[in-house]
Amino acid sequence: MKNTRVNVAIRVRPLLKAEIDRGETSTELLSVNRKNNTISLQASHSGKVDKSYTFDKVISSEATQQEVYDELGIQEYVKQVIDGYHATIFAYGQTGSGKTFTMEGYNYSNGGNSKNGPKAQIQDGDNIGIVPRVISSIFSQAEDTSKQTGYSYRIYCSFLQLYQEKILDLLNPNHSKKAAFQGPGLKLRWNKLDIFTVENLYNFECKSPEELIKYYHSGINNKIMSTHNLNNASSRSHCVFTITCECINPAKPDNVVVSKLQLVDLAGSERANQTGVKDQMAKESIDINKSLFTLRQVITALTDAKSKDYIPYRESKLTCLLRQSLGGNSYSLMISCLTPNDKFCDENKSTLNYASRAS
Ligand code: ADP
Ligand code: MG
Repeated sequence: MKNTRVNVAIRVRPLLKAEIDRGETSTELLSVNRKNNTISLQASHSGKVDKSYTFDKVISSEATQQEVYDELGIQEYVKQVIDGYHATIFAYGQTGSGKTFTMEGYNYSNGGNSKNGPKAQIQDGDNIGIVPRVISSIFSQAEDTSKQTGYSYRIYCSFLQLYQEKILDLLNPNHSKKAAFQGPGLKLRWNKLDIFTVENLYNFECKSPEELIKYYHSGINNKIMSTHNLNNASSRSHCVFTITCECINPAKPDNVVVSKLQLVDLAGSERANQTGVKDQMAKESIDINKSLFTLRQVITALTDAKSKDYIPYRESKLTCLLRQSLGGNSYSLMISCLTPNDKFCDENKSTLNYASRAS
């Protein structure tokens, strides 16, 4: 991948068994060229290419989770964090396009759809997503670096859900979905260093990948339960899992370098596409619209050298939360997810347009 600060990748998921059983199709409307990293949309039935897009990386539907991890160079983002830079990896796309599958993995993405709101299973095997792979990698990379440099590392994690501009702590041991949704949510504070912090958000130190993954699973379970009770609220929320890394140089123990890796499963973008009269929209859609719209503006401003001076972080809570890991000393990766289902041509087009404006 090129070494600019924001990389944009596309991942197309396969047609699911349930879709095939319903007689839904995946014709050649989306044609993926993995080699050139291009993707073209064809105007239905005419076979003519409607529009062609090029991204930093285009991943087709047969790619395994491990291939996605390798091809996107996720290991290098983890390395940057160990080296003191911030990084963000986020999944964008309509509901059902594979964001949760990409970030979390198979069991989770299905768990959230279950009627019984089951607890997430500890996964094994090939289907784990980016976050559990990052969790195993960060400790081993810290250890390797430590052997070479003598630096020591402390790793922390926090996990929040942003629902209707309300910040909910998924790692609060007293997390109660009902109270969390009825209460005011946590406050976002801003300091003079232009850093936003969430007041009272739990941030747990983890000594091992097992401990880190345990927190991750418990946060996912809180999210899934909310999903169950609130009619799939999770597809209308942004979920941000943050791994904080403190690097201590024994020669300068007071000078701790803090870096963050933020892993984000964004709200379904279908609502961001809805146009129409503002006051007819639910508050929810407006909030999602605003966050995703601002996110794109922030990314565009970051990638456009000319607009360096003004970056509209403050215009949504999502971009405030991602402020540190989206600008300055940071590397970002946006993974835009597409479905091959012919039913969703319009959504795919709008995801591609969003992604191409961000790249
Ligand atoms: P989103 O989070 O964008 O709403 P999900 O990750 O929940 O979408 O994916 C929707 C469905 O598609 C889930 O059942 C999921 O397991 C399945 N799925 C997504 N991506 C893939 C893939 N690459 N391979 C197999 N199944 C996938
Ligand atoms: Mg999801």
